[in-house]
Formats: sequence, C-alpha cells, structure tokens
Amino acid sequence: MDSATAQAPVSTTTKHVTFRIWRQNGPDGAGHFDEFRVAYGKGANVVSCLMEIQRNPVTTSGQKVAPVIWDAACLEEVCGSCAMNINGRVRMACSALIDRIIGDGEPIITLEPMKKFPVTRDLAVNRDRMFDALKRVKAWINIDGTHNLGPGPRQSQGDHSVMYKLSTCITCGSCLEACPQVTIDNGFIGAAAISQARLFNMNPTGKMNAEERVRGLMGPGGIQDCGKAQNCVKVCPKEIPLTTSIAVMNREVTKQIVKDIFFDQGDEKKSTGGPG
Ligand code: SF4
Repeated sequence: MDSATAQAPVSTTTKHVTFRIWRQNGPDGAGHFDEFRVAYGKGANVVSCLMEIQRNPVTTSGQKVAPVIWDAACLEEVCGSCAMNINGRVRMACSALIDRIIGDGEPIITLEPMKKFPVTRDLAVNRDRMFDALKRVKAWINIDGTHNLGPGPRQSQGDHSVMYKLSTCITCGSCLEACPQVTIDNGFIGAAAISQARLFNMNPTGKMNAEERVRGLMGPGGIQDCGKAQNCVKVCPKEIPLTTSIAVMNREVTKQIVKDIFFDQGDEKKSTGGPG
C-alpha cells in the first residue's frame, strides 16, 4: 500500500500528541524538523497519526507543508517497511501505540528515519544494503525447475522450530540500525543476513549450498566484523535469536577456515609431489 493512499482511522477522543518529524528531500538534502499536533483515539499508533498528518499537513506554527513521506504496507509487523527511530529508538511504527509511548501529559514524539540507510525522503529509507547482503549469502533455495518436485526431505521437529523462528525475519533493518558496527557507508552485512544464512543452511535442500553461504560470510564486511554488542537481538521486533545465529555461523566459518588450511596444504603437497 502506498502511504499516500492509506486511510486513517477516525479518532474518538480529544487527546492530543505533538509529533516532531524529520523532513529531508533526498539522500543529500539538508534536513530539518517540522512539528504537528494531532488528535488521536484509543489504540492509535504512529502510522495512524502519520495518516492524520498526511490528510492535513499543517505545522504547529500554522504553515501548510508537503505531506510527510514514510514507508508502510501491511500495518501488522509483517512487511518490515515502517521501521524508524521513535524517540531515539528503532522500532516498527505500525505497532508503536501512542498511549504506550507517551504515558501521561502532553507529550512530544520525535520521528526520524533510520540512520544506517540513505534517506529517500523524510522517514523513508533505501534498504538495498540488506538485499545485497542476502544476495551475498545466497539466502534462497536453488531448485532445478518449476515442475512438481514432490515432498521435500523430512525435518526434525527441533530443527523445524528453530527454522520457523528464523524465517520470521521481515528485513526491517532494525538490527542494522542498532548495531554499532554498521555505519551508513561501510559494508558489514549485519545480523539479519547472518541469521538467514543459518536458516537456509539448516534446510535439507539448502544444505547442498551450505559452503557457498559460509564463504559469503567470510572476507571484508563479513561475520568477523561483528563486535558482539548484542544490540541486534534487543531491537528485533520478531525476537529472532540473532546472537545465537551469529555464534552458530561463526563456528561454521571457523570450521571452513580450518578445512581450507588442510585442503590447501594437501593440494600444495600434491602439486609439489611432497609426502601426504
Ligand atoms: S533480524 Fe529482526 S531486526 Fe533484523 S531485519 Fe530481521 S526482523 Fe528486522
């Protein structure tokens, strides 16, 4: 759903909240804050208030301004597109209830775009780095055609439970936003892609390409850039065990490095005619 066509719910009370919203025309544009005062009802969340502002984009100083731009689609924490900084903490705008954020009194809620991604406009950011990271670790299952392949190999209930949790990643970017190792211009792939590599390596069919995924985690920007701050796991809206995924894949990378050492030595011996 385009945010421009979204329908706002009708407010039923006279409670008000003031939003301080970051405005920026593009990745290189200078930014500033605009303030808007919004009436809201029970159960209102940040997205529903943004819709109210969109219908009447007049600031608290009475100036009519361009409608605020943000990304949203499912409005139920599934699409991952509405992640933003709300009062300095990254979270999903669709599940950020106004009453829970502000408590009592006449509050101000500050909305800013995520800072580890280029701003496309206002609160909307470009998440390409996340999708590039998924490509780097080959976060998919290769198939040899679109014909009926029949039932896949059986999985244990234990593996299935772990994989189900890992599969709930919504590529929202919150884990990258909270990670001190990720900057807007570095190449660290971040926790989400590492966890997806674990997911697809657990899949009975995906195991066939496990080494390629492990190699995708090696090298510059790879898993060794993780500083173990553990912020990722604290902000993940789907409560994915990201630090466990990082530990598991770190072990796989170490095993691959050891294998490479012995394999390379074996190759060298063969090519030089040495013993072994
Ligand atoms: S791992 Fe969690 S925080 Fe990171 S992109 Fe996926 S859902 Fe968002």
